[in-house]
Amino acid sequence: MLVTKRIDGKARAARLIADVTAATAALKAGPGFVPGLAALLVGDDPASRSYVGSKGKAAAAAGIQSFRHRLPEATSEAALLALIEELNADERVDGILVQLPLPGHIDPQRVIVAVDPAKDVDGFHPYNVGLLWSGGRSRALIPGTPYGCLLLLKEMLPDLSGIEALVLGRSNIVGKPMAALLLAENCTVTLAHSRSRDVPAQARRADVLVAAVGQPELVRGGWIKPGAVVIDVGFNRITGPDGTSKAVGDVAFAEAQGVAAAITPVPGGVGPMTIACLLRNTVIAACRRRGRAEPQI
Ligand code: NAP
Repeated sequence: MLVTKRIDGKARAARLIADVTAATAALKAGPGFVPGLAALLVGDDPASRSYVGSKGKAAAAAGIQSFRHRLPEATSEAALLALIEELNADERVDGILVQLPLPGHIDPQRVIVAVDPAKDVDGFHPYNVGLLWSGGRSRALIPGTPYGCLLLLKEMLPDLSGIEALVLGRSNIVGKPMAALLLAENCTVTLAHSRSRDVPAQARRADVLVAAVGQPELVRGGWIKPGAVVIDVGFNRITGPDGTSKAVGDVAFAEAQGVAAAITPVPGGVGPMTIACLLRNTVIAACRRRGRAEPQI
């Protein structure tokens, strides 16, 4: 029986963070600047607070100056846009991230387009989205989660050319940019969503399956083509029969064993890559803005 490889996202993220740290040290010692990352959090959602906290800590540990802005839930859209304008003009700041979701009275699209595309380290600005889809990938800032998925895939399949890939989920944050990246790698890409017909049959044709649906263990063992590489983006909390809560992905991990050639675990797969790729984007943005050669990381 096939032995399914576990793709270790923690180890790959640690390698990328080491590369980022080496790059920030070289920038400090050479041209003499420290990349800066501003993180904006509106409201008091505990999960968002924890994400922003982790990003700030990881940035500082990698030699990136971290600026945190915690704003009350009642912050008006105008006040948030004014702060973004200030950060756009702040020379110390190379990357701006606005933690989503925002409170209901703030339009996320207005906020996303307010960020200077050169500082858009989340890669959500239409300018960066457009570059990614129109052949300008090398100049775009690419969202961290799908880029992290691509790096993990490349651990298994360095050449993706001609491969049949199915991306499950069409969000702007994961599914769509993932499809764009796979297309740029010369995969034949199918992008499926909640209205797609017979997703299991589509999955069974895929050499690469990326699941980003937010549905606990939706993808069953029988959906997976034998020998496929599976990237599980999902992060879902479920409560077991004993009342304890645990995190599971969008793929039934145990059922994938012996069928998939390789799969990312949850936790410890895609999650750690997201932050590492955000830090990478910050260093790249810092170099581009200052007209410096960007490190090949
Ligand atoms: P999202 O915005 O809720 O999008 C979910 C997508 O899945 C939608 O396109 C939806 O289709 C599709 N979908 C839902 N049920 C489906 C079904 N039964 N069959 C086929 N498609 C289905 O979610 P997201 O932000 O992309 O996140 C997806 C998952 O990844 C979540 O579990 C999230 O927690 C996780 N995530 C993890 C990280 C990380 O760093 N590890 C980062 C981001 C997200 P429609 O468009 O038709 O509604």
